[in-house]
This record gives sequence, C-alpha cells and structure tokens, in this order.
Amino acid sequence: MPPPRLRFAPSPNGLLHLGHAYSALLNASLAAAMRGTLLLRIEDIDPVRCRPALADALLADLAWLGLTFPAPVWRQSARVSTYQDALAALRARGLVYPCLCTRRAVAQAAAGARDPDGAPRYPGTCRGSAAAAAAVAAGAPHAWRLDMPAALAAVRETPGRGALRVPVFAPGGPEAGRAADPARWGDAVLGRKDVPTSYHLAVVLDDDAQGITHVVRGRDLEAATDLHVLLQALLGLATPRYHHHALIRDDTGRKMAKSLGSEPLADLRARGVTAEEIRLRLGFAPPPAGRGA
Ligand code: GLU
Repeated sequence: MPPPRLRFAPSPNGLLHLGHAYSALLNASLAAAMRGTLLLRIEDIDPVRCRPALADALLADLAWLGLTFPAPVWRQSARVSTYQDALAALRARGLVYPCLCTRRAVAQAAAGARDPDGAPRYPGTCRGSAAAAAAVAAGAPHAWRLDMPAALAAVRETPGRGALRVPVFAPGGPEAGRAADPARWGDAVLGRKDVPTSYHLAVVLDDDAQGITHVVRGRDLEAATDLHVLLQALLGLATPRYHHHALIRDDTGRKMAKSLGSEPLADLRARGVTAEEIRLRLGFAPPPAGRGA
C-alpha cells in the first residue's frame, strides 16, 4: 500500500468560507490520523472567474487556519498541455465530439431534464452531427463532450475490466464501495469553448499525477465521482478511495456557497474571530502550539 496522500483542491474564484475551512481541516485531520500527506492544489483553469489575488487570499486563509502544505503547490493553470493531450487521446479514440450548442440551446433541448448537479441535461444534439463537424472544420468555436454511450462501450470492451465501482472509505470505518452509474449524467463537457479542459478531466488527471490515494470532499461532488471513475477507466488512471463529507450549513440551514454570499473567512478574521474558534466551531481540536490562531 502506498503511503496515504490526500489533497485539498479549492478554486480561486471567490473567498474561502466556513465550508472550505471544514473540508480543509477534515482533510488535514484524516491525513494526520493516517500518517499521510496533505497536498494543496489550486484549481484555476477558469481564466475569467479565477484571479491571482484570490489564490493569494486562499493561501493566507489556510495559513491562518494553521494548515501547511508541502511545496510546490500545484496550479492547474500550469498543466493545460497535459489536459490537452488527454483530450486529444480521447478524440483519437472517437470518445468525444465537438459541440456548438450555447447554454441557452442546451437548456431548451434538455426540456427540463437535469444532470445530478441540477444543470440542464445535454441530450446529445451534436453527437454524430455532420453539420457540427463541418462548422468546427470551418473554425467555429466549440466545446468537446464525452460520448457517453461510446465511453461506456469502450470500458465494457476493455479485457479484464469489471463493472465500474467507486471505492468508498469512511474515517474509522471499513472499506466499502458502490456501483458507479456515470450514465446518470448527459454527455459531459471535457473541453470547454474557452479552455481546453474541464473540471472533470483536470481533476482525474491531477489526482492520478499527484498520486492521491484518498479524496475527501463535499457531498455536492458525490455524483461527479461516477463520471470520474469512468474517465479514470478510459484514461488508464488510478482510482483513489473517496469520502464525501456532509456540507456545512449556516445559521439559517442553507449550505455555505460563494454564490450565496456566505461570510468569507477573511471577514470573520477581520471581525476578531480567531482560527481556534473556527476550529472548535467546526469540531476540530486546536492547532499545535505556536501555529495558527
Ligand atoms: N475545485 C473544486 C471546488 O472548489 C473541488 C474539487 C475536488 O475536490 O474534487 O469546488
């Protein structure tokens, strides 16, 4: 068994809030309990929403919480050519296809059907479309989508490959697993119009390249894991064990989210709240003496 390696992988598209603090502290406490390593990965592939100042802010917030990470800290923006190569390999195998649809067109075509994350489910409008291929050849901007039926067939036909499973672990509990059902997603975007990758593609490539053995993240990403194990099978990548933790809620019962304006850690700090108080509020022991608060 390789030594456990975990990662905390925030996106610098807003300030960290208590939900991030919980996830980071849980990763750190599990890594310590397993005598493993916790890595930090900055998921900054979105050139519009991710800003360097926000990456600096998240580093400052994590240091304030008393968390330290081995250098170098990975930044996805430095790994775009790796993602591009993987996308090209999937293209060569006919497992992705170009898609010209706008968000509005997808919402209309979905006719109310939803992916597990609540987004309109793509019904495959451009899959196998000669018109789309011609427009792409003429230089039209396009995304790349996973051809889900072709991808599932490719995995089924791989010799020695059993059914797709998500290995699951619970802190202190027995190892377990569940069947993966990636087809509950429509054809997911693997290469966006504005950047030659997507969250789903970048995350599986990086978890593999960083040797991550245990992924600890919020339940909001639980369904995405089904897609991730499919991509790992297609690309010959390692599948870590997964633990999806409960989401932290605010006083009104709403889950914490940047988009909902949850109070940033930096504001709590400015109001005089200490890192120790944050740790205790979230159910963690105080930091080692001399660090953090
Ligand atoms: N970057 C993602 C986020 O900030 C987390 C990705 C992951 O843990 O797999 O929500």
